[in-house]
Amino acid sequence: MKCPFCEIEELIVTNSRQTFKGYSTWRRKKCASCLNTFTTYEEVNLNYIIVKKKDSTKKRYSRVKLFSSILNSCLKLKNVDTGDCAKNAQEYTNEVEELMIKNKQKIITTNEIFNLTLGVLTKKDIRIAMNYFSYFYKSKRNEEIKKDFENLMSKSSH
Ligand SMILES: [Zn+2]
Repeated sequence: MKCPFCEIEELIVTNSRQTFKGYSTWRRKKCASCLNTFTTYEEVNLNYIIVKKKDSTKKRYSRVKLFSSILNSCLKLKNVDTGDCAKNAQEYTNEVEELMIKNKQKIITTNEIFNLTLGVLTKKDIRIAMNYFSYFYKSKRNEEIKKDFENLMSKSSH
């Protein structure tokens, strides 16, 4: 890897830590030449996972897709900071992906991803979970969505 500032390939790792369940690593690096520091992030690429859709067509898993659905659910909140949303969406996406790795599935349905994501978001911020839920039921009326979501929450809390 090259230093992004001077393009020299002599880097020193000054700090590193594993995130959440240990499936990704964060490293702080320092260039031996220009002494600038920057961060790298290493994670498992989950594109080996095949996603089965409702119409039974299959696609490779895409982190960007999951991330943007979570990000959009966060951005719908009122008076929210875009930077905070991006940071949180990144973290929540990591948690969903770590659950996917833990489940050891090579094939996953869109519905399973939906449930894992909803589970993570419910723990983090119920308002984002609600937005995420309604995003997938766009065709329903708001009142219906709210009722369905409340039913789901009361079921999962017992
Ligand atoms: Zn450098």
